[in-house]
Amino acid sequence: MKVNCDKCGCNFTVVEFFTRKIGEGKDYIQEGYFVCPNCKTEFISFVRNREINILINQVKTLTDLEKKQKILDKIDQLTVALIKSRRVS
Ligand SMILES: [Zn+2]
Repeated sequence: MKVNCDKCGCNFTVVEFFTRKIGEGKDYIQEGYFVCPNCKTEFISFVRNREINILINQVKTLTDLEKKQKILDKIDQLTVALIKSRRVS
């Protein structure tokens, strides 16, 4: 994956993704991110919480495309809400 860092302007290829877990128990948030090799800015590539992880596991087992799409839409909604809540805090 090629990325253009919007902080320092350098172009780089992402070779390594990191994940971290924020919070404990059922209220955790999982973040996937990569780092600009030049200025060390972190770029979040995904955020998930317990609810989203459960839905992702459900999608993997589904063969019905219509049901699958519904759950994928729900995952999108939850992800957007989660990103918003992270920005506020
Ligand atoms: Zn950079």
